[in-house]
Amino acid sequence: SNANLFAALRAAFPADLDAIAVETDDGLLYTWGDLDRASAMIANLFFALDLEEGARIAVQVEKSVEALMLYLATLRAGYVFLPLNTAYRGAEIEYFIGNAEPAVVVCSSANADWVGPIALAAGTRHVFTLNDDRTGTLLDVAVQCSDRHTVAQRGEDDLAAILYTSGTTGRSKGAMLTHRNLLSNAEVLKDYWGWEATGGPEGRGDVLIHALPIFHVHGLFVAIHGALLNGSKMIWMNKFDPKRVVARLPDATVFMGVPTLYVRMLAEPGLTKTACRNMRLFVAGSAPLLIETFHEWQARTGHTILERYGMSETAMLTSNPYKPVQGERRGGTVGFALPGVQLRVRSYEEGREGLDCGTDEIGHIEVDGPNVFAGYWRMPEKTKEEFTADGFFKTGDVGKIDGLGYITIVGRSKDLIISGGYNVYPAEIEGFINEMAGVAESALVGVPHPDFGEVGVAVVTVKTGASVDGEAIVAELKAKLANFKIPKRCFIVPELPRNAMGKVQKALLREQHKGLFT
Ligand code: ATP
Ligand code: MG
Repeated sequence: SNANLFAALRAAFPADLDAIAVETDDGLLYTWGDLDRASAMIANLFFALDLEEGARIAVQVEKSVEALMLYLATLRAGYVFLPLNTAYRGAEIEYFIGNAEPAVVVCSSANADWVGPIALAAGTRHVFTLNDDRTGTLLDVAVQCSDRHTVAQRGEDDLAAILYTSGTTGRSKGAMLTHRNLLSNAEVLKDYWGWEATGGPEGRGDVLIHALPIFHVHGLFVAIHGALLNGSKMIWMNKFDPKRVVARLPDATVFMGVPTLYVRMLAEPGLTKTACRNMRLFVAGSAPLLIETFHEWQARTGHTILERYGMSETAMLTSNPYKPVQGERRGGTVGFALPGVQLRVRSYEEGREGLDCGTDEIGHIEVDGPNVFAGYWRMPEKTKEEFTADGFFKTGDVGKIDGLGYITIVGRSKDLIISGGYNVYPAEIEGFINEMAGVAESALVGVPHPDFGEVGVAVVTVKTGASVDGEAIVAELKAKLANFKIPKRCFIVPELPRNAMGKVQKALLREQHKGLFT
């Protein structure tokens, strides 16, 4: 048998290849047969290039259905897909391409004048263009290739993709993901989230609204594999537009988003229970979902958002339950470890290193399972550091498990603040601040301090129309919490800095405020 992920996805295509697989928001229809033929043509194009085994295909293009076909073609041909954030510019692309040494680079025509030379200088032999309007040299060449292609034979441990992490805590690392990593996770999620092959608005089962970027684990793996492995249609949006998503909800059953997408959809008056009448599942992840968003969504739509937790290195690790018999979906938690995932919380404190934390005790999250990656690309030392002696991956996240098994993420170990020798967990303080009248959101970061080593500084955004005072926030916290947890300063800002995945850029905030006390 063939462990190639594409073989499993292809086997899940519906028997009727003329059925619609992807409908773009501007009205283009792609059948399952189209996905099959187009991925075959691009795979044949790669074959003609005579690439070496394990060659990387680096892709920095605007989101489009053709970019999805390129992903499928790369798997199909047995090469390694390497997506890059569309926001990256010269210095970043130079790092990624220099680091990954791809055999092929695909970029948009608009960027070809600077991406091309960077690629050629790094030894890339083939540069193609691909745009979000079905143009580009990749397609020009692919249309001349045969639309019949036998899926390349791959083993479970062969690489399918290198996914660079979001760079939230430092320089991005290339997570090497195997065919088994990706397929095992997709199969678990298909079952755990109850993907349906019948019913739905068109009687053909689930329909997914795909509005996430496809250079990241959420949009590329969780969403796309979910739909394809279930033979489900996708309503495809190259850009997220809250109005458009809300307008298409009646035609869909599943939606996946990062928390900011939910916040923006809540601002749409069209978001109602009626609009959501056919919806079955709303999934959130990639960053913490505010409990307020969770409750507002329930009130407005009648649906309870299912929050899950994962990362580039492991795909999905935990999920709130889908089926009521498994328990309720608890806001503020990321649910239970998924089937097949071993997850433990351990102490890294001196004297207690490596000991399991008790119920509700905060510690470092470590994981193992068929979904855990094969290591960081060309970083053997870093890879070694991030695995324990018994083979668990240190996620870099800090959290706790309650008596029922619900897991809560408290923050990242790199964002932990140690003030006067005491651990301050940012999420706890942020939770208190977020509950205060007029506050929209907050972020707590640690900055150097001559007496305490580090102290917390709060950065807060305010709800429209509300007036909130930083000193009043600090005073209110003082009445509730131990002194070492109290931020020494609190700034009101118009917006928290976020990256494309909606993650708050705490490193940036630390940098901005590092000179406050020194
Ligand atoms: P880098 O590793 O380069 O610093 P990153 O960790 O942000 O960047 P990703 O792999 O995209 O890169 O993100 C994974 C991280 O996102 C997790 O380690 C976790 O901190 C966070 N995350 C994902 N889902 C959730 C969630 N539901 N709640 C809280 N945090 C989450
Ligand atoms: Mg990370």
